[in-house]
Formats: sequence, structure tokens, C-alpha cells
Amino acid sequence: MYMSHSQPEYAHPPTRDKEAGLSRRERVVLAQLRCTRKSPILQKYLYDIDASPCDACLQCGQSPDDLHHALYDCPEVDFFQSLIPGDPMVSLWESPVEMIEFLRASQRLPIA
Ligand SMILES: [Zn+2]
Repeated sequence: MYMSHSQPEYAHPPTRDKEAGLSRRERVVLAQLRCTRKSPILQKYLYDIDASPCDACLQCGQSPDDLHHALYDCPEVDFFQSLIPGDPMVSLWESPVEMIEFLRASQRLPIA
């Protein structure tokens, strides 16, 4: 039997080329922070899984070193916030390259 319509061609989803230059490790960290707000780059997370004796920030000593502290409150990263174009939580999604630069500058990620 002749079918008058053919299979639709599905468009490929757009690639997240904003992240194409990032390493797998960097993309994993972004996904962890976006989806769970937890990551081994945060002392609070390491403390919660018994991988660190203390949940204090390695840069400033304040507790707890959670995502909010890392992005907004840590006095040691004030200077580096100029690396990200807007609100840090929005930049996690919208400006991944700049966010990784920020996390490198604040010594939460190794320098590439
Ligand atoms: Zn701190």
C-alpha cells in the first residue's frame, strides 16, 4: 500500500556549543551545581559525605562552604565576580565559560 506521507525528518537538537571548549570535568561540575547544588568543589558536600572533617571554606574559613557561599558570600571571591556577566545562579546556565573562569580564579577548579 502506498503511503502518501513520508516519515517526518526530526531536527537534531541544538548542540550546547557554549560548552564545547570546556573539559568533561568542567561540564560535570556545572551539571552538579545546576541540578543538585552539590559538588566535590564545595567543602559542605565533602563534609556531608564524610570526605572532609570540616565544612568551612578553604579560602576564608567561613561555614558552611555551600554553593551560595561559593557564588555570593565568600569575601575571597568578590574581585572575581566581575568575570561573570550577571547573577551567578543565572550564569551557571547562561554563561558556562565565564562561570568556569570564575571557579578557576577562585581556586575551586584547577587552572587548565
Ligand atoms: Zn569563603
